[in-house]
Amino acid sequence: MGKAIKPYIVENAEIMDISSEGMGVAKVNDLVIFVEGAVPGDVCDFRVYRKKKSFAFAKLTGLKKASEHRVKPECSYFGTCGGCKWQNLKYSSQLEFKQNQVTQAMKRLAKIEVGEILPILGCKEYYFYRNKLDFGFSNKKWLTPEQVESKEQFDNRNGLGFHIAGAFDKILDIEKCHLQIDISNQIRNEVRIFTLANGYTFFDIKNQNGLMRSLIIRTSSTGELMTIFSFFENDTEKINNLLNHIHKLFPQITSLLYVINPKGNDTIFDLPVNCFYGNAFIIEEMEGLKFKVGPKSFYQTNSKQAYELYKVTRSFAELDGNEIVYDLYTGTGTIAQFVSAHAKKVIGVEYIPEAIEDAKANALLNNINNCSFFAGDIKEVLNDEFIFTHGKPDLIITDPPRVGMDEKVVRKILEIAPKKIVYVSCNPASQARDLAILAEKYKVIKMRAVDMFPQTLHIENVALLQLI
Ligand code: SAH
Repeated sequence: MGKAIKPYIVENAEIMDISSEGMGVAKVNDLVIFVEGAVPGDVCDFRVYRKKKSFAFAKLTGLKKASEHRVKPECSYFGTCGGCKWQNLKYSSQLEFKQNQVTQAMKRLAKIEVGEILPILGCKEYYFYRNKLDFGFSNKKWLTPEQVESKEQFDNRNGLGFHIAGAFDKILDIEKCHLQIDISNQIRNEVRIFTLANGYTFFDIKNQNGLMRSLIIRTSSTGELMTIFSFFENDTEKINNLLNHIHKLFPQITSLLYVINPKGNDTIFDLPVNCFYGNAFIIEEMEGLKFKVGPKSFYQTNSKQAYELYKVTRSFAELDGNEIVYDLYTGTGTIAQFVSAHAKKVIGVEYIPEAIEDAKANALLNNINNCSFFAGDIKEVLNDEFIFTHGKPDLIITDPPRVGMDEKVVRKILEIAPKKIVYVSCNPASQARDLAILAEKYKVIKMRAVDMFPQTLHIENVALLQLI
């Protein structure tokens, strides 16, 4: 990342490009400078604070000429929260930059030819598109620049909202987040009002004390609603009072869950989840298929756009009903079930056992009987015996996490050599790396980017590969 230097100001520089991390890029005397807060087309001043031989990092200090790509951010926390970094960019420009990011990754990193790059599929809703948000409690609220300036004194510094990047113990108190439908704001704000009014303590990460730890809110396409409260201590009376209050005020919550988490880390994956009211799951629906989503299950966080992503995946697969399909990194088996009516059989693999249990339960719920699911690490599961047992796949669908596929898995796919591969990726850089290896036997027929996360630099990309 370079060394911290004595900061200096550059004036009137033009921003030429945008980096894959979403920063404006300027070039001054052969030095490439990544400027936080700047967008292509801006003419601006910035403060350079960190440097390496050929590149440096800077922060925008003054705007001389605003780029035509700019818009006014919707959210009042823009610049502090760090969650939706591209809110100052027009949505059409966001799509243009994302499309370009994918194309460049294939050209520069993978160095492969792509038959056809279809236009990026934008999201109809630019805001309020997420179905899951994770809020934290802290007794060290992050103060906004305005609060610091106002010299206002606070009785306490309890806050409920988002973690501040780079300050692990600080929380930005949030009144209105533009990422999830408004009921989420209402619930979170009511939890804050009730807990503050009744003297509940907020988590102190350094000293490891305080009752209130985290709150996850999951909304769904069916209207069902899940809240998962995480408490650091098991104070039954306080917990019951709070949950009763929330249950009465928000009868829309169909799954009111809580966890006691006295551990050093925030994850609830290794803890029992208690059901205070309603079901232990919510139901998502897609094209008539129902998916039971438990507190520990993964479900794509933009439900509507997940449908678009899966339709692109299915259309690239061009199944005729006779194929054996492997769905690698299947999660709760959503893609497997989505394509199952068009295939002979689908085999899903995923390493979280609870997700595989959900996948099996969902297939039953949907009366699907040509899907089988297996739990385990793909690099171990995908061996000759497994392929002999389940049959050589005609098509492999793969949807790995951000790191992409393990090289061992990529090599195994080359050895299996299915006729087609559909590679769904949430990180064009790791996808490009994997495609470069697969180029030994495969050509990329077409690809299409799908925007699941407006206002952020994240992009999903689907590629169709055919055996040469
Ligand atoms: N295709 C699914 C989930 C994609 S997310 C959907 O659309 O909903 C990627 C999934 O890969 C996660 O569920 C994660 O648990 C799983 N995963 C990550 N590394 C893995 C590995 N080495 N072996 C098996 N599964 C893995």
